[in-house]
Amino acid sequence: MKQSVCILGATGSIGTSTLDVIRRNSDKFDVKVLTAKQNVNKLLAQCEEFHPDLAIIGNESDARFLASELTRKEIPTRVDFGENALNDAAAYPKLDTVVAAIVGAAGLIPTLTAVNRGLKVLLANKEALVMSGEIFTQAVEKSGAILLPVDSEHNAIFQSLPVSGNKGNVDLSGVNKILLTGSGGPFRNTPLDTLNEVTPEQACAHPNWEMGRKISVDSATMMNKGLEFIEACFLFNVDPEKIQIVVHPQSIVHSMVAYVDGSVLAQMGQPDMRTPIAHTLAWPERINAGVEPLNFFSMSSLEFQAPDYERFPCLEIAKNAMRLGGTAPCVMNAANEIAVEAFLSEKIRFTQIVEVIKETMSRVEMVEAKDLEAVIAADALARNIAGEIIRQLGN
Ligand code: NAD
Ligand code: MG
Repeated sequence: MKQSVCILGATGSIGTSTLDVIRRNSDKFDVKVLTAKQNVNKLLAQCEEFHPDLAIIGNESDARFLASELTRKEIPTRVDFGENALNDAAAYPKLDTVVAAIVGAAGLIPTLTAVNRGLKVLLANKEALVMSGEIFTQAVEKSGAILLPVDSEHNAIFQSLPVSGNKGNVDLSGVNKILLTGSGGPFRNTPLDTLNEVTPEQACAHPNWEMGRKISVDSATMMNKGLEFIEACFLFNVDPEKIQIVVHPQSIVHSMVAYVDGSVLAQMGQPDMRTPIAHTLAWPERINAGVEPLNFFSMSSLEFQAPDYERFPCLEIAKNAMRLGGTAPCVMNAANEIAVEAFLSEKIRFTQIVEVIKETMSRVEMVEAKDLEAVIAADALARNIAGEIIRQLGN
């Protein structure tokens, strides 16, 4: 039996890599649903190749264009558009697996829909988990969903922990520390006093990984590692004090688990997201991901360093948000999304991203994240306030 797959965010970096792995293993996977926000030509090409039952695009005019092109080419994919349709994608009948590869808060509701159905959910969309935390993990527990981490670090941690049962539950007994690695991004050695001049293009030019623009900027501020710190706390139900961030510029070791007996287990591989994607798609089996094997003889040295909290203040902000709990991670995430968008559209400077986040967090009252409504309200409020702060900065 083939696995029936829905990809939320099919045209993005993770979505495209997922389809590449599926292309190499077409005897094992059946693409049923694809969604995208804007890139209608790319979605059209994907529909032509994979013939999904359903394709969702962001707006009506793109949907009309897509539907007419598919009809002309006699491809029987049904087309829909908009936010509700995005949720229908995750609710599509007879799915086995949903790949959550939308960037940002927009992925929360459809990802939770997949979780509530008890499906296998491959999580790339870390923002969804950061925002909703225990609401998300409790939904996984209640529905019996299989939640597998696509994020390379969390996938590495998952691979370095003992797993019991068929739901992917990890056992943390005997774990001393989780060592969450990060490359340090493009500005690891950039003189601090020039960081206010860096451009979106420089921020998006990651030394090791090719990713979407939002996560590339997050890597440059290391907010990505902050989000991943919170992601790890919720995914593995681990005490924040047990997680140590380690800078590893080569991105070969994707994270490690240190045990009380002194053993350290690491997962290594090329910096290529097709490895964790293939691992989660096939879990508990293994499939070919199309990734070059690591060549240890041509590898230069592997370096490991303590993170520089002065250069990367987002690390401390995220740790504090996790300690504060409640809606604090959600507010931080929302402020970051708005600030990164403003930086990418050249409304603020790179160094103002952190200012916007800090100021937003000081103006928004953090409350208990008692249900999804509270989370969505905190997200909306933080977005408004972050927007206001950005407008004030522009004056
Ligand atoms: P991307 O920008 O390349 O792609 C995002 C996808 O989501 C696109 O298909 C886009 O059409 C869709 N999308 C964007 N906004 C949307 C909205 N408002 N409504 C519906 N769809 C929308 O992003 P990416 O780099 O593929 O990252 C996706 C997620 O995976 C992010 O949460 C990121 O943090 C995570 N992730 C990415 C990588 C990577 O290597 N790219 C690695 C680890 C984790
Ligand atoms: Mg990562």
